[in-house]
Amino acid sequence: MDYLPVCLRLSDTPALLVGGGTVATRKARLLLKAGARLTVVAPEASAELQALLAQSGGEWRREVYTGADLQGQSLVVAATPDAATNRSVYREASERGIPVNVVDSPDLCSFIFPAVIDRNPLLIAVSSSGRSPVLARLVRRKIEALVPAAYGRLAEFAGRWRDRVRQALPEEGARRLFWEQAVDGAAGELVLAGREQDAAKLLEARLVDSAALHRGEVYLLGAGPGDPDLLTFKAVRLLQSADVVLYDRLVAPAIVDMARRDAERIYVGKARSDHAVPQQDINQQLLALAQAGKRVVRLKGGDPFIFGRGGEEIALLASHGIPFQVVPGITAASGGACYAGIPLTHRDYAQSVRFVAGYLKGDRVEHDWRQFSSTTETLVFYMGLMGLPVICRELQAAGRAGDTPVALIERATMEGQRVLVGTLSTMEALVAREKPQAPTLIIVGDVVRLHRDLAWFGERDAGAPAS
Ligand code: SAH
Repeated sequence: MDYLPVCLRLSDTPALLVGGGTVATRKARLLLKAGARLTVVAPEASAELQALLAQSGGEWRREVYTGADLQGQSLVVAATPDAATNRSVYREASERGIPVNVVDSPDLCSFIFPAVIDRNPLLIAVSSSGRSPVLARLVRRKIEALVPAAYGRLAEFAGRWRDRVRQALPEEGARRLFWEQAVDGAAGELVLAGREQDAAKLLEARLVDSAALHRGEVYLLGAGPGDPDLLTFKAVRLLQSADVVLYDRLVAPAIVDMARRDAERIYVGKARSDHAVPQQDINQQLLALAQAGKRVVRLKGGDPFIFGRGGEEIALLASHGIPFQVVPGITAASGGACYAGIPLTHRDYAQSVRFVAGYLKGDRVEHDWRQFSSTTETLVFYMGLMGLPVICRELQAAGRAGDTPVALIERATMEGQRVLVGTLSTMEALVAREKPQAPTLIIVGDVVRLHRDLAWFGERDAGAPAS
């Protein structure tokens, strides 16, 4: 290790910055953020630097640096364009034992600045030991994306509980287990979701009842319509923390693969006419796994609360006091419409959009069809492939014109996505000819006309063009 990473307390500590240009300004921002009492020595200073000093009560010595400026300083940063000045700052500070950094000159540094991911009080520093600041920044960007913005809040929260937990659990091993479960478990998730009071209640319960410590939790995750890149950060994080993952047919294998390698995977899929695992059994299974202390993720296609029966799955958990969370996902309508270049609303064509269940009950799709007569409303039918002839017929009977454009999106957002475009009167024949396979989504309304211009290159010619 060429350097020892340490966290320096700078609050109310005198620090000297030599230089007043853009690089110096950047360093000033950082030093002030850490609470330093800043003095800047430079004949010129940027407007922003001057403003920063004015706000923080810092001092600007509008002159050329001399060794006397080091008097009383605990830390020095030099960022001047003049190599000779930088060298004397380094030499003179070193002689006095003051930590010194000359920007972009590793040889003239007793300490260097890492790239920082700031989730105060949680700090992550990345350093290339001065070899490649660009690489360090690249790594920082990747970590930025991985570490939820609210982790700072979580660290703050944990800090407030430290003494209480130390008293309640004097034994170190028990305490570590408690914190691991708290930070990485339901309580931590509650804090991240902004529900600190609920998190506090949960921690308190777990402190007084050690059995509660071993209770599991359930996350209902919206997995989006198929493309794994459409998962939320939160869904990925929770998925990777799961002991058990329950998934069904609508969830892409690539998404299930993101679970930990040692996580148990349980398929609870239902094909349309083959109810492999009845809903009630799934609800019971979630409950039993959580009661056995597992961290359970239930992956749902799209959004759990849109035609997802998510409400039923958590109702049972709620009644048994199992901690759970529902994480939204991109619903098929949203994903499919974007990937097919069909805006669901549009100033000129549609001022509202409705998500409608399109499944057949016997040979009917049960709705009061008169409510769908508005020509300025886009209709999106889920589960409508088998019922498509009925849907097209009923909409026309309810007054929508036979030439109303219709798009059927097969495998939306997934490899092999296909868009068939027709009208209420031609769609049935088009589908009979093209034989699309589930999952499919049906969009009805004038917005479908935009598909021709807005679809991705290469997708524009599938099916017959809208009139
Ligand atoms: N909760 C899901 C919907 C579940 S109902 C969501 O929010 O998207 C199942 C129906 O969703 C399917 O019959 C189909 O109409 C639609 N669907 C889901 N994923 C789809 C996809 N990738 N492409 C097309 N339709 C899809």
